[in-house]
Amino acid sequence: MTDEADRSDEKIAAAIEDGISRIRRAVAHPYTGECYFCGEELSDPMRFCDTFCRDDWDAMQRAKRRSGE
Ligand SMILES: [Zn+2]
Repeated sequence: MTDEADRSDEKIAAAIEDGISRIRRAVAHPYTGECYFCGEELSDPMRFCDTFCRDDWDAMQRAKRRSGE
């Protein structure tokens, strides 16, 4: 019984954590109408034209953070 309650608490905490990080990302990287990585125009409120650009950009940001700090 306690185990189950703990598990659902964890699930809720994870959902909140997920929501917070999504909001943080949206604030830090607002929609510009262009792909953040290659600069291609986007009609949808997205930041990247595809997952490759997103992954490459993510990797670039991680590398920047590693070298910048
Ligand atoms: Zn792109």
